[in-house]
Amino acid sequence: MTQLYDLHCHSTASDGALSPTELVHRAHQQGVTYLSLTDHDTTAGLIEARLCADAIGINFIAGIELSTNWQNQCFHIVGLGINPNYPPLAEATHNLQSMRLARAEQMALKLEKKHIPGAFDAVKKAAGEGMITRTHFADFLLSQNHVSTQQEAFDRYLAKGKPAYVSTPWADLKLAVSWITEAGGIAVLAHPLRYKLTANWMKRLLNEFKLAGGQSIEVVTSRMNSDEIRLAADYAIRFELTGSVGSDFHNASNPYVELGRLAPLPDNIKPVWELLG
Ligand code: AMP
Ligand code: MN
Ligand code: MN
Ligand code: MN
Repeated sequence: MTQLYDLHCHSTASDGALSPTELVHRAHQQGVTYLSLTDHDTTAGLIEARLCADAIGINFIAGIELSTNWQNQCFHIVGLGINPNYPPLAEATHNLQSMRLARAEQMALKLEKKHIPGAFDAVKKAAGEGMITRTHFADFLLSQNHVSTQQEAFDRYLAKGKPAYVSTPWADLKLAVSWITEAGGIAVLAHPLRYKLTANWMKRLLNEFKLAGGQSIEVVTSRMNSDEIRLAADYAIRFELTGSVGSDFHNASNPYVELGRLAPLPDNIKPVWELLG
């Protein structure tokens, strides 16, 4: 039987719209046979997701997507096959939750200065027990008709350099990679083409990432065209990294992003799942 992998997606534990249970059911309906839940900076959804995956017979890989900092830019590192109870990782996610709460408060103050009150209460309520993200702010701005799309919320308020942006001292990339590897996981550079790095900066990043213990790069993600897949695959080969595949699914309202709806990993790329126990 051919397997269908999706090793990057989000639930209500961070900025996804579906609960871990709903997400696993949807993945199953889409034919996914190996799923990893990789919420932003939290492992809170993993227990529920695994219970559901075991019940319906889909292979589940414990994951996370850590926000990290390198050269003053934020890079997302996915961890696959982690032990969420590894104390330094558990402590890190705990600290990241406080950091995200403090950032949200500062962002809300900045919006108030732009005559948009009420953001803090709204995003706290929307996130519930989960991580507060800029997606929650985008949804708030949308609900209050300050913008007409999520993208517009980022373009006008939330992106770097915009009025509500707050720079956040995420963990150093090398430290974050060490949390993942010491927790028994494989560190994967998420959506490598989204950082808009030149080839030279990409080389510096991947050298550092490898030195820190990184072993994989996302070669196939949603909405990548064949040229982009080829470029990411070239990086995997040049830097001797395995290739990962993940939709980065957040909600069902984006018709271009669906669980498991991914181009196949090119034949010449060693799949990351060969490293997963
Ligand atoms: P945060 O980690 O809180 O800074 O939030 C980052 C999340 O916001 C990302 O994971 C995306 O889900 C979302 N995001 C970032 N940039 C955009 C954008 N331009 N349009 C829509 N969503 C975005
Ligand atoms: Mn997100
Ligand atoms: Mn990401
Ligand atoms: Mn993601």
